[in-house]
Amino acid sequence: MKRIAIVGGGIAGLTAAYELELARKRGADIDWQLYEAGNRLGGIVETTHSQGFILEGGPDAWVSEKPWARELAVELGLESELISSNDATRKTYILIDGQLHPMPDRMRMMVPQDLSALEGSALFSDTARQAYANEPGRAKELRSEAPEEDESVASFVRRHFGEEVLTKIGAPLLSGVFGGDVARLSVRAVMPNFVALEREHGSLIAGLQAKARGGRPAQPIFTTLRNGLGTLIDAIVAQLPPERLNLNRSALSLKRQGKRWLLRTSAFATEGRTSKKHFHHVLFATPIDATRALLEPLDPGAAALIPADASSAVLAAFCWAAETASTFSIPQGFGFLVPQTQPTAEPQLLAATFVDQKFPDRAPAGARIIRVFFGGRSADALAPQSDETIAAAAFAQLTKILGPLPTPDASLTTVRGWPRSLPQYEVGHLERMAQLDQRVSKLGNLTLLGNGYRGVGLPDLVRDARNAARECSRVG
Ligand SMILES: Cc1cc2nc3c(=O)[nH]c(=O)nc-3n(C[C@H](O)[C@H](O)[C@H](O)COP(=O)(O)OP(=O)(O)OC[C@H]3O[C@@H](n4cnc5c(N)ncnc54)[C@H](O)[C@@H]3O)c2cc1C
Repeated sequence: MKRIAIVGGGIAGLTAAYELELARKRGADIDWQLYEAGNRLGGIVETTHSQGFILEGGPDAWVSEKPWARELAVELGLESELISSNDATRKTYILIDGQLHPMPDRMRMMVPQDLSALEGSALFSDTARQAYANEPGRAKELRSEAPEEDESVASFVRRHFGEEVLTKIGAPLLSGVFGGDVARLSVRAVMPNFVALEREHGSLIAGLQAKARGGRPAQPIFTTLRNGLGTLIDAIVAQLPPERLNLNRSALSLKRQGKRWLLRTSAFATEGRTSKKHFHHVLFATPIDATRALLEPLDPGAAALIPADASSAVLAAFCWAAETASTFSIPQGFGFLVPQTQPTAEPQLLAATFVDQKFPDRAPAGARIIRVFFGGRSADALAPQSDETIAAAAFAQLTKILGPLPTPDASLTTVRGWPRSLPQYEVGHLERMAQLDQRVSKLGNLTLLGNGYRGVGLPDLVRDARNAARECSRVG
């Protein structure tokens, strides 16, 4: 019998467990155990329900274009729970000089599909609009000058559209997903579709237009679950035998012993010592810092290839019951982004989501939820503060931007911090990951899962975890 350990009970570890359990039920001669350091499963995916409000502490949706999270949800019987973002009212605003400016319609990140949509936009100066207008005509030059090697997102966006587009929308859009610094993020790792468009068409605008003519029906931008993403975690856990899920059990070290791995974990409180068990295969689905520490004694060179930097996130959600919500209005749309142009003395908001406008059924009829998000240095500065201090700082900034707001319902205000949760895929990331794969495969029967390697979004993590678990459930 092949014994398999999964370390980490976030979406990556749980999905791997689900796939192993499927294989076991089908008769594969395997035995698996999952070890989770905390007292709950789901990791960064965390939904709370209160007074008819659905509050996400981490991710709130996945990108519909990537099919793997949806496939898993359907397989788990959640098809009727799948909902889409309210794209008919989709609008994202950018804060420039204290004013919210809507992004023009039909933008795919920083690339417009329709140049005429830029005409009325006060977001861009004439220079930026001209840079957009010129880009399709520079297709040949852009294709021939594309570097052979990876480059930063900043340099890629600058080559196509110039500095203003980078700072006003490129950087804030990317920071919202990856945290961090566009001057260091790898374009090949975080925007592979745009790199492919450049290779094929030179111009990103022409490339998007050609794709649109290709006629695949537009699908909603985001998909989520009616009762929150925690439903996905609950549905996976419902398929797993509880005796295989070990909570409050941290992996402390891993050692090779002959053909097997010896995994040492913290014991249950009552046992009062550490526990050691042998496994034939180990899947690390831990955050990058934990994985690096576990891998270091086995191969320091491999550990050094794991992304060194990761961005933190601090979120605060504010709720208003229908009666209070009817006394104020906010702009129509999904929310706003704040370009982090100058380092400021006080922590600066990175983004806000108008939750009840972005998704249906997140709040009782007429009620309102606004969730704000700090990233990078601002999140690090706020993280040690109390929830009350963080909520007060977030609310003060929100009112500065949206104008006076009635006091939110204190019993529903939630604050959540995720330190070093978004790994930075820096320039050269894909090459480093290829080297890391090679080194880890030399160690034998060890797999790295989670958001440090091949994508940070839920669909990527689900795809990876399922593939890895299928591979390792093949006994032999
Ligand atoms: C604020 C925020 C918003 C996001 N929004 C979105 C979004 O809208 N859409 C999207 O697709 N993605 C989003 N992401 C990204 C996505 O949520 C994460 O990449 C993903 O949830 C990470 O899952 P994971 O299983 O790799 O890691 P985690 O969820 O971090 O799980 C790892 C688990 O390992 C455990 N662990 C740590 N050390 C040990 C140890 N030594 N032994 C045992 N267990 C250990 C931890 O306790 C944790 O439970 C967001 C991320 C953040 C931070």
